Amino acid sequence: MPELPEVETAVRRLRKAIVGRTIADVTALHPALKRRISNAKLRTLRGARVVAAERRGKHQLIALDDGRTLHAHFRMAGDWTVGKADEPLPRFARAYLTFTDGSRVVLDDPRALSTLDLHPAGADLDLGLGPEPSDSSLTAESFHAALAKKRGPIKPVLLDQRVIAGIGNIYAAESLWTAKISPEAKASSLTRRQVGDLLKAIRKVIDRATGARYTDSDVSTLAVYDRKDKPCRRCRTKIERIVQAGRSTYFCPTCQR
Ligand SMILES: [Zn+2]
Repeated sequence: MPELPEVETAVRRLRKAIVGRTIADVTALHPALKRRISNAKLRTLRGARVVAAERRGKHQLIALDDGRTLHAHFRMAGDWTVGKADEPLPRFARAYLTFTDGSRVVLDDPRALSTLDLHPAGADLDLGLGPEPSDSSLTAESFHAALAKKRGPIKPVLLDQRVIAGIGNIYAAESLWTAKISPEAKASSLTRRQVGDLLKAIRKVIDRATGARYTDSDVSTLAVYDRKDKPCRRCRTKIERIVQAGRSTYFCPTCQR
């Protein structure tokens, strides 16, 4: 599942491909996507020029010169395929944007859960997101205060986008392993020092992963995620898998206490 680093990589490619270009047409192909946003509505994008493409959490926001925002979210899978408008569409094309210079970007998603939304000019976009990991206003103190208010174990809390934006199942596990914190530790019981270590670990893990695509299919570089029964890269203890809030959690029972 694309998390902050993969979405950041995608938005960088998207930005290069579309900023400054004028939209010729936008077409939704998948029935679920067409129900969410009609092609009639997408046609109103004709003639708009793209002024920016930004990431916020796992969301992508395409700003147009008329003030509107085209909002993309990959959810379980998804990526942009960049090419020319006259090339054949990829097998899992769910929507595409063509530009007046003959270029095209395709929303390519085998799971077909990606969404597109169009927000009017001046809309106050409340994405329900907490600070970005890279946000300088996010400090060990502020993170500690935020976690102190949460109930339950730290791992599911890290997936709560209102607490910190962009972390998903893979990088939550990797960050907790890096900070040597048990995924089952109560979020509110973590010391200020542990929270400081965790924030550092999150930043390190996210920075290292940015630039990669589809970590799901390449776990060779990961420390704990999807490594059940494999030796911990720090202490050789077998990695364990548990289920928390319906999601798999991988951790080392020896070095994450
Ligand atoms: Zn270990």
